[in-house]
This record gives sequence, C-alpha cells and structure tokens, in this order.
Amino acid sequence: MSSIKRKLTPVPFTQVRFTDSFWGPRIEVNRRATIPHIYRKLEETGRIGAFDLNFEREVPSPIVLIFGDSDPAKWIEAASYSLSTHPDPDLAAIVDRVADKIISAQQPDGYLNTHFIHTQPEMRWKNLRDWHEMYCAGHLMEGAVAHYQATGNPKLLEALSRYADHIDNTFGREPGKKRGYCGHPEIELALVRLYHATGNPRYLNLAKYMVDERGTQPHYYDIEALERNDNPAKFWARTYEYCQAHVPVRQQEKVVGHAVRAMYLLSAVADLAHEFDDEILLETCYRLWDNLVMKRMYITGGIGPSRHNEGFTQDYDLPDETAYAETCATIGLVLWNHRLLQFSGESCFADVMERGLYNGFLSGVSLEGTHFLYENPLSSAGERLRHDWFICPCCPPNVARILASIGNYFYSTEDAAVWVHLFAENEATLRVANQIVKIFQSTKYPWDGLVTFRVGVDRPANFALRFRLPDWCQSYQLKINGTPWDVQPEKNGYIALARTWNSGDTVSYEMDMPLKAAWANPAVRQLEGRIALQRGPLVYCLEGVDHENIILDRIAVDPGQVTRQFTLDYQSSLLGGVAVVHGQGTVIDGQGWGDQLYRSTPPGKKEISITAIPYCVWNNRQLGEMRVWLRTR
Ligand SMILES: [Zn+2]
Repeated sequence: MSSIKRKLTPVPFTQVRFTDSFWGPRIEVNRRATIPHIYRKLEETGRIGAFDLNFEREVPSPIVLIFGDSDPAKWIEAASYSLSTHPDPDLAAIVDRVADKIISAQQPDGYLNTHFIHTQPEMRWKNLRDWHEMYCAGHLMEGAVAHYQATGNPKLLEALSRYADHIDNTFGREPGKKRGYCGHPEIELALVRLYHATGNPRYLNLAKYMVDERGTQPHYYDIEALERNDNPAKFWARTYEYCQAHVPVRQQEKVVGHAVRAMYLLSAVADLAHEFDDEILLETCYRLWDNLVMKRMYITGGIGPSRHNEGFTQDYDLPDETAYAETCATIGLVLWNHRLLQFSGESCFADVMERGLYNGFLSGVSLEGTHFLYENPLSSAGERLRHDWFICPCCPPNVARILASIGNYFYSTEDAAVWVHLFAENEATLRVANQIVKIFQSTKYPWDGLVTFRVGVDRPANFALRFRLPDWCQSYQLKINGTPWDVQPEKNGYIALARTWNSGDTVSYEMDMPLKAAWANPAVRQLEGRIALQRGPLVYCLEGVDHENIILDRIAVDPGQVTRQFTLDYQSSLLGGVAVVHGQGTVIDGQGWGDQLYRSTPPGKKEISITAIPYCVWNNRQLGEMRVWLRTR
C-alpha cells in the first residue's frame, strides 16, 4: 500500500522575516498593541488571577470562566511567538510570571483547570459535552509548546505533560477509564503538538483515541448526562452535530455544526492522517473540504453563517448581512488548509488559506490592534461596532497568535524543492538540497502582482523553486535573470523551475491582477443578481463613510464596467495604505414616496460615484454601513 504521508514540510515562522508594508506593520501592531492590550484585559477580567486560586469571583456568571483558562493560554502562545522573532525582556518577564501562575494552580494529580478546581470541584470531568475542560487543556498545551520553543525553558511544557498524563489516565478504552472526549475539539491537535515537542507517543495515541471515539455508540454524552441526572434529549443544541459528535468523523458527509469546532477537529484529523498513514482520515478531509469550499464558504473565507449554532446550516446558505463567520472559524479554516496543503502541495488549499488570511481573518482586528470583530458579516446596516473585548473573548488572542506566527503559512520544503505558497516582501532561510538557501521576495503584493524572487546560496544548488499560481490569476509572465521564460503550471497549480541556482539568480513572476467582478453560484439565493469586487486575493466592500447620505443597498453597478472602467488608486495615507477602487454606479432614488408603502411606478435612479476599499480594513474609520455584494440592476 502506498503511503499518504505529507510530502511537504512547512517552514516555521521563525525562518521568515517580513519587510513588507502589508503583514510587517500588522505583526508590529500585534506586538506593540494587541498582545499588551489582551494581557491587560486578561488581568482586568480575572483570567490570570484565577490561577492564584484564592480569588473572589467578580464576574457575572461562573459559566463565563468555564473556558477562561483558554484565553491566557492563547495569549502565552501569541506572546511566545512574538518573543521568538522579536526578543523583549519585559514581555519575557511577564510571560514567565504567567507561566509560573499557571503551574502553581496544578493539582497533585496533574489536573489543571481553575474553574473546576476553585468553583465547581464536584463537577470535574462530569460534563465533557458542554464544559470545555479539555478545550482549555488543549490551548494550555499549545501555549506550553510555544513557550518551550521560544524560551527553551521546559517548566510549562512539563506541567502540561503531567496534565496530559492525567487525562490519559482518566480517559480511554482501557478498563476503568471513561470513554469521553471534549464537546469542543481542540485538545486533539494540541496533543499532536505536545507529542512532537516531547517525543512521547502516549499523547499521539490519546489524540487518535479522541478522534476515533467521538460519535460512537453508546454515546458518551448520553451516558454522562444520565449520570448527572440530566435528560440527554434536552440538550439545548438538540443535536451532537454542534459538538462534532453526531457520527464518527470518518462517516461524516458534510461539514456541520459549530464551525470552529469543525475546523479544529478536522485539523487534528489531517494531522492523524499523516501520523498514522491513515488514508480514510485523509479522504474524510477531502470529502468535507469539497462540501465546505464548494457549498458553504463565504467569498471572504468566512464560514458558519448561523449565530444560533455559531456554525453551518445548509448547502448554499450564505446570507451576507446575518453572516456569523466568526474570526476563530476562519482561523480554523486556515489551520486546516495549511495542514492539507502539505500532503500533496495542491494550490487549492493555499488558495483557501490566502482567501481566509487576507479577508475574513484580518477583518477580525482593527488597524490599531485593540478592537476586534467576533462576527464578520458581509454587509452591515451600520450597527457593527468593533469591541476591545468580549464576554467570550476567544477571537482576540486567537488573532494575536496567528499574526505573531503568520510566517508559518508562506513556505514549505521538500528534499530538493522550495514551495512558495503566499507572497509578501520577506526573507526566508530554508534548508533544501542539503544546504541553507535564502529566498528573498520583493513585491508590493497584494497591491501589485509582481513578485521578484532572489536566491541566496553559498554554492550552486540544485533544487526546484515552486511558486503558486493563485486561483484568481489567469495569466502571468516569467523571467529568469531578466530573460523571458515560458513555463506552464503543473497539475497541482504551482509553477516549477528546477535548475542549478547560483547566488543572486532572480525570477520575476508577474501575476496579472485586474479588478474583477465575482458572482456567486445561483444556488446561493441570497446573492442572486449581485456581484462582489475582487482584486488579487482581496475582496472589496463599500463603506458608508465614502457614500454620504446614500443607502448602500440601493447602489447598483454594471458588471461590464468593473474591469474596463473602474480604476485603482493606491492611497498611502488611507487605512494604513490601500488600493482604493473608484467607479460609477446608480442609486435608487428614495424621494417622492410620501407615506406610500407601495405604488405602481418604479423609483427613479441616478448616477453616482462609488469607492470601494479592501474588506479586511472595513470598520476602521467610523461606524457606518458596509456592503460586499452589490446589486447589478
Ligand atoms: Zn472566536
């Protein structure tokens, strides 16, 4: 039987240094503003103090802090990543203190959850369906791995290993253990990371148990509910789809339930497919990916349209104004696609990753770094404030950890190949063909499609440079050391240049990046008759602030004009520097109706100028309307 293991190895973010004007400033704002801001909020809301255990609860409901440990955990992860690329003794000292606090709360048996140590000790491990204990454990493990990798200090990693041992002693198929698994997947992928950081296969096997046991009968959530004297039929979400536990994952046909839970689980499924060479797990990922990307994903990479279950509904149900599209869900989408990309190096996974990162992920944090969106709708009547914190603040530290490690998503290596998935001005140091290779990207991407790669090697090196042809790009020109070169992309969507590279060799890769209209499949009934504007990886939107006294939903544009007559204007002082789109449209005239609700003559229309900005920077000026999908008539 042939192996399905990953062909590619991702290059860690510590090997990629950004010098661009798109991600570079975001990483810097994340370091200077977001990470300190989140720390202050964690302190203010008692989430760090909770590890002292001798604390008074000052929050409105203990339920709020059931998952409270996950927030400092994600913050430690974000801060550790930041320390890896930008040493900062003050931040390092705070991280060290928080790590000590976490460790101090650990119980003699290894257990470590402040809520169930302090507030409801009698309920420990009694409600895995709802109470997030393993979810918090998973985030603490991820934080511990990042902390160890950044500092070399193993203390937090050792504490979380003891907690993982405790969980492994408590749960599993062996006699005397509970056959449980968490209602909010996360620990599964964290255990795989813990396995790699410690080398202990016990954690990998525990992750596999949790993925395989999930959704089997008799159902663990029924059993534990009866043990609590609860009626399992009265579960508020009505279906275990919400917990990704309605059927074993190998039998899932569609992506359902809570979107973040689905993405975290499927990220672990992809990890385990690789670790155990498990073809069925990989096929499961591909099957669910087809359903998600072809029928259930917003053009922004947002996923999960419904607020009710923070998740999925039906195929082609993609309402724009009520889109839930949680920031964390797009983060999960990126994590999962990054994992799938490494198996075969097919560009479709990097396309989704890019769509998410440049749109529905980045919209989740303001340009100054201290205000966030939990939901990322594709239109707004003007009531969507950014907030500096949330009662459930999962998104802010999640954004912080991804931005601090954004370099993770750009490159992979193979024995004799460098893979470039994403574009930005940066310098990457890689090991390929048994030597150190530097790749310098110079580009103004995403404002311009021209990327120049320069190779740095100590001695000539034989390897293939593979770079992605994005799904939005229909034509490109290539030059090697200034000479035009004609190469077709491979079946996987990457252009491969295999040769002997000398230091200073350059490849200029010019992707044509016109502004385009995008239509949704007509099966998406909410978007019928509408278009979105997209240029390169960026989806555009209109904002009220640029269209005074005009209701955005009354604006229509002619799709035929978009490519031919709309213009682009790079404005360095606007929104951190963005290419703005200018064009003409019409607006329905709302005048002359008096008290009439209906009448037999249509409203008039008049010509107007419109201005569109990248969706990822909306809601950074003043509260107002926003709209991605525009009428065409
Ligand atoms: Zn979230």
